Amino acid sequence: MYLLEEQQMMQEVARKIAKEHIEPKAAEVDRLGEMPWSNIRLMAENGLFGVHVPDEYGGAGGNMMSQVAVIEEIAAACASTSVALSTQALAIAPFLLAGTEEQKKLYVTPLAKGEVLGSFGITEPSAGSDVASAVTTAKRVGDDYILNGQKVFITNAGDSEIYVFLTRTSEERTKGMSLFVVEKGTSGLTFGKKEDKMGIRGSTTMEVFLEDVKVSKHNLLGAEGEGFKILMNVFNETRPVTGAQAVGIARGAFEYAVSYVKNRKQFGKSIANFQMIQSMVADMSMQIEAARLLVYKAASMIDRKEKIVAPYSSMAKCFASDTAMRVATDAVQLLGGYGYIKDYPVERMMRDAKIFQIFEGTNQIQRIIIGNHILHD
Ligand SMILES: Cc1cc2nc3c(=O)[nH]c(=O)nc-3n(C[C@H](O)[C@H](O)[C@H](O)COP(=O)(O)OP(=O)(O)OC[C@H]3O[C@@H](n4cnc5c(N)ncnc54)[C@H](O)[C@@H]3O)c2cc1C
Repeated sequence: MYLLEEQQMMQEVARKIAKEHIEPKAAEVDRLGEMPWSNIRLMAENGLFGVHVPDEYGGAGGNMMSQVAVIEEIAAACASTSVALSTQALAIAPFLLAGTEEQKKLYVTPLAKGEVLGSFGITEPSAGSDVASAVTTAKRVGDDYILNGQKVFITNAGDSEIYVFLTRTSEERTKGMSLFVVEKGTSGLTFGKKEDKMGIRGSTTMEVFLEDVKVSKHNLLGAEGEGFKILMNVFNETRPVTGAQAVGIARGAFEYAVSYVKNRKQFGKSIANFQMIQSMVADMSMQIEAARLLVYKAASMIDRKEKIVAPYSSMAKCFASDTAMRVATDAVQLLGGYGYIKDYPVERMMRDAKIFQIFEGTNQIQRIIIGNHILHD
């Protein structure tokens, strides 16, 4: 009821693919711990990587509402697969917000078509929540820049062809930061340890090293010193997408648990007849509905280009990921001992849910943004 006809059509495409192809493979993707390439190809063929990207750059010309509707469907089936979509959105966003026409044509087009993957390297060993303390440097030498440093926890690293890095071009804290695009294969760009993770095990997370990586001044994304500002605007647009994934995970766990409690019998009757079970189901349902509405609110504010979006994007991300964690944990509880066993999908969903409270800014950081807006803006 909140989606326009065109947005519903995109959602339908995603739901069909998710149900028929992605969900049946989700347990295997988790068990193997490898990138779900066949899902990635399928999503590319169906235009899901560029749902929100203007058609002149290879996208479907939709908007943020289309994107959150689509990604919820994929996440409900397989969180690892949905992270391939959201990471692409994270890599595309700085180009759409600050790229030159040439950069958009060159980089956004293949990313939106899903022909290649992209990554955004922000986090460093000593710069996590405090992104402005990043020490990776970019030094201007003639018409080039030389990049040196280390990034950690970079999604799709090694598998991506296009990388955006947050670097330091001067000593000024936030105003000394700049973004650069670096293509895979550039001399000095190498990859380290692949992380062995609790959840989203079908999504690659890796260390990245930059050692005297030489790029042209044309690889500067936005103006020098604008990197931090662009990044904050990127997060405003990507946090509702993270929230939508969390809603999807919560929904997937909820739907499975509901069908389970209808069939499971104890004390001579279906456990769905017990009021404590009904109460849990009611709470889970309310939380999912509320989380989705917050995601839709933030997404529609972005689509309407409203001025103050940040606190609402943070609310959507924070509330939806807290909901995913709570609902997935309750889904495990509703299945009893079976919920704790890998044969049942809620075990995976509970592990997958956790990361959504951590990446794209932890939920403590989201609460700081919301609190600051209320008290100090
Ligand atoms: C699977 C995975 C994928 C990721 N993908 C990417 C990626 O693609 N690109 C990328 O750049 N990064 C990525 N990250 C990094 C992620 O964004 C960071 O891990 C996250 O922002 C937190 O940083 P940190 O791990 O250094 O924790 P820290 O910043 O060290 O935080 C530790 C704890 O302290 C809390 N804390 C910190 N500061 C405050 C404060 N001021 N007030 C209250 N509490 C505070 C945090 O909330 C947290 O609970 C990924 C991480 C993971 C695990």
